[in-house]
Amino acid sequence: MTSPTGEIYRIDWLPGTDVLHGTCHCGREHTAQDPVEMWEWMLSHPQGHEPRGTSS
Ligand SMILES: [Zn+2]
Repeated sequence: MTSPTGEIYRIDWLPGTDVLHGTCHCGREHTAQDPVEMWEWMLSHPQGHEPRGTSS
């Protein structure tokens, strides 16, 4: 899946559940039951998920 800016996101359903598991292009992962919540989390990047390697 690709955002309008060309960044790559992955969203998978967890088998047997209503839970979505998303992986941001920065490597952070998030789970949600609501696809809208998932997209809001991804599109709010980097709020709530900082890119790897910037904490040093
Ligand atoms: Zn991110």
